[in-house]
Amino acid sequence: MRKKIVAGNWKMNKDLKESQLLIEALKAQSLAAEVSVMIAPTFVNLTTALESVKGSAIEVIAQNMHYADNGAFTGEISAEMLKSVGLKTVILGHSERRSYFGETDEILEKKVFQAINNGLQIMFCFGEELEDRKAGTHFHLVASQLKNALFSLPKEAWAHIILAYEPVWAIGTGETASAEQAQEMHAFIRKTIADAYHSELADAVSILYGGSVKPGNAVEIFSKPDVDGGLIGGAALVASDFAAIVNAFN
Ligand code: PEP
Repeated sequence: MRKKIVAGNWKMNKDLKESQLLIEALKAQSLAAEVSVMIAPTFVNLTTALESVKGSAIEVIAQNMHYADNGAFTGEISAEMLKSVGLKTVILGHSERRSYFGETDEILEKKVFQAINNGLQIMFCFGEELEDRKAGTHFHLVASQLKNALFSLPKEAWAHIILAYEPVWAIGTGETASAEQAQEMHAFIRKTIADAYHSELADAVSILYGGSVKPGNAVEIFSKPDVDGGLIGGAALVASDFAAIVNAFN
């Protein structure tokens, strides 16, 4: 079912005390009830964050996980571990994981299947680099990222997939895709899924935009018909900015 979603990716920011303070500040904001609000603190603060969000509709989600069940993978976290503390959703494929930690489409496909097989919902991130856009290969690149990591999933699995289109050139740069560029790509993504599966399935998938979304540009971006919300980095670290983005749907 297509939903309006705004998710905050806190990345490697906010220690224990700061995480608790940010959650308290978020709980004090009024957040549009029809929007699913998610936050992704660091792994070490997930359990306390789950405690802190109690009494609110905010969902705590994870930033990443490994594709193996368990074993000798120092520093990694499994799907089972996320579930065991009460998490239901994991971000996979963020461009920082792809570029700094060598996550390929092949690795991501394994992670996707592991998450689905463990009953987790996935927020799958993808998007082109600036060179791809300059070369005009951005549609092709985005289609291949989707195909390589997601298109061998059975259609039932798509009920557990949220997509986050994040052009890499717009992440943390202050440079945003225009609302028209976002809509153009989101419509292309929906058509690519419709071609691979079915138009009803494509229409039911929530597709978020990510890349320097701020209170000042969220209203325009979220007004586009194929944009179902945002994955927010920098602006998710300030409660009033994040709340303004959550409340930016018309
Ligand atoms: C992100 O990292 O997913 C992101 C969109 O970051 P920012 O909003 O800071 O560009």
